[in-house]
Amino acid sequence: MFGRDETVRCANRSTKGTGIGGIRQCFNNPATVEVTVRYGDGALEFDTHVLCDECGAVLKGDAHSHGYSVTTKRLHGMTSAQERKARVKANAKLVELGRVYHDGLALDKLDAILSENGFNTLESAIYCGRDGRSHEQVGERTWLSLTWHKMEQTGRYEIVAYLS
Ligand SMILES: [Zn+2]
Repeated sequence: MFGRDETVRCANRSTKGTGIGGIRQCFNNPATVEVTVRYGDGALEFDTHVLCDECGAVLKGDAHSHGYSVTTKRLHGMTSAQERKARVKANAKLVELGRVYHDGLALDKLDAILSENGFNTLESAIYCGRDGRSHEQVGERTWLSLTWHKMEQTGRYEIVAYLS
């Protein structure tokens, strides 16, 4: 009865065996994210794993290097105070993104800022066109506003992103 550990553990922990997909394993971390990797057009073929932050990031990098799309979802919600704090932190970084021009929409950088602050990452592949705007829910009480503009001359992108 005592000391029973009910915590859901990372599916890629080394205490369990060989892990998933041959990616680097953690020792025995608690699970914090649900990572879905989509192959091809992703409609039929996908895998979902419950992982720790560390393995989630490794899997994501590995999947991206194979050209697969990845979405991550937090398993545990934040309190509204935590979420507010996380928004402020993420917004400080998002402002930096808006100060430089990008070769594309910088979705990897956006995703990195979102996930390191505890928000869900973006559904990719819905962003296209020279000018655009999107409004996407990334947390229980948090939405990302994203607008972009492709510069006529250089072909580079201007991005304005913030959470509210
Ligand atoms: Zn792990």
